[in-house]
Amino acid sequence: MKTWIKDPTAVWTGNDQTAPRGIVVEDNRIIELVSEDPKTDVDEIFDATDQVLLPGLINCHHHFYQTLTRAFPDALDKELFEWLVSLYPIWANLDEDAIRASTTTALSELLLSGCTTTTDHHYVFSESTGQAIDVQADVAKQLGIRAILTRGSMSLGKSSGGLPPDKVVQSPDEILRDSERLISAYHDDSEDAMLQIALAPCSPFSVTTELMKDSAELARKHGVQLHTHLAETLDENEFCMEMFGMRPVDYLEDVGWLADDVWLAHGIHFNDDEIQRLGKAGVAVSHCPSSNMILASGSCPVPALGAAGSPIGLGVDGSASNDCSNMMQELRQAFLLQRLAHGASAFSHHDALRVATQGGAQLFKRSGIGELAAGKLADVALFDLNDLRFSGAGDPIAGLVLCGAHQASAVMVNGQWRVRNSALVDVDLERVRADHISAAHKLWNV
Ligand SMILES: [Zn+2]
Repeated sequence: MKTWIKDPTAVWTGNDQTAPRGIVVEDNRIIELVSEDPKTDVDEIFDATDQVLLPGLINCHHHFYQTLTRAFPDALDKELFEWLVSLYPIWANLDEDAIRASTTTALSELLLSGCTTTTDHHYVFSESTGQAIDVQADVAKQLGIRAILTRGSMSLGKSSGGLPPDKVVQSPDEILRDSERLISAYHDDSEDAMLQIALAPCSPFSVTTELMKDSAELARKHGVQLHTHLAETLDENEFCMEMFGMRPVDYLEDVGWLADDVWLAHGIHFNDDEIQRLGKAGVAVSHCPSSNMILASGSCPVPALGAAGSPIGLGVDGSASNDCSNMMQELRQAFLLQRLAHGASAFSHHDALRVATQGGAQLFKRSGIGELAAGKLADVALFDLNDLRFSGAGDPIAGLVLCGAHQASAVMVNGQWRVRNSALVDVDLERVRADHISAAHKLWNV
């Protein structure tokens, strides 16, 4: 089956190739960028008139379960540590129905915003959420999004000097055993994998040093990536100095994580020397601008980290600190925050599109995604410009970012349409919303 996505208003390929008349997709791959007419006979035409065509967006950091505590009254107007302490007791009551409802909601929002590949960092486990990652894997498969699910963990409870209550931490043995089970059940290392697993101890203030080291050893034994939160706040710097006698990057090196199979969420409070060390080691960073602004954490030095050699992706982060899962809006937030921090010429709309596509592909070491070219996987997003917010826009690509696109008109993942006419294919969104609202109410009222 060959589909010609025909005559978009503009195409951003993410490389130096052009596709003025669109692209041709066969099965799950792009087979041609079209200049005049397709060189091959096509079976089907998708009319892309008045739409902008992009590579599918790649989300590098999220906590799907947090969609259940958006705009949560007790957590408003707080910085990270106080915000977490307000929410941990609520999250401790999660169950697998709540995981299913929140994962479905987050993935639906992501797809509708043009996202075709996402990660999730689930780290709250209790007796009622032992199968959380299995549930997420099932939902991702049903919705047809490409996913890198991380087996998160917390092992340093309050009684041992950590931040989370003891109720939500697990023993290292339990964590490592379940991590290994998930890798063997779900991790696919092929180029067109729809599902991969990574290991993700939550943060220096919620995990023991031994678990950081053991997780790295286990990940490397199986060839999966490592993920954690790092250098998000000054409170975390102070915690690391007090608890370990060193700054977060020194701690990262001490536990064997200063390496190119690691991606960090946030990466804000680094000095110049640390930026060079991270770049030289190839440690990747997911920039999470909305969350960083809401929690007043600071801003990631994206241009300097990129120049030093770190792959930089973009993440919406958990919905309790964003509080939405919209990748196109996040891309605009990165554009605004990086310009405010580093100047108008330091970060263009192309740079914002790049971190949301190729940056994510590099971060996840996925050569098949993140750009439009013959041979790449058919992960694409289209945005309709027939909306008042784009009226009068001179440059349609710049207009997407500057005028605030937020709703994809069509999204294809691995050659399958998942969004058509600005709606999810074969998903009853009202039902998704009703299930999610009832799961949220149940969680708050336990
Ligand atoms: Zn996070």
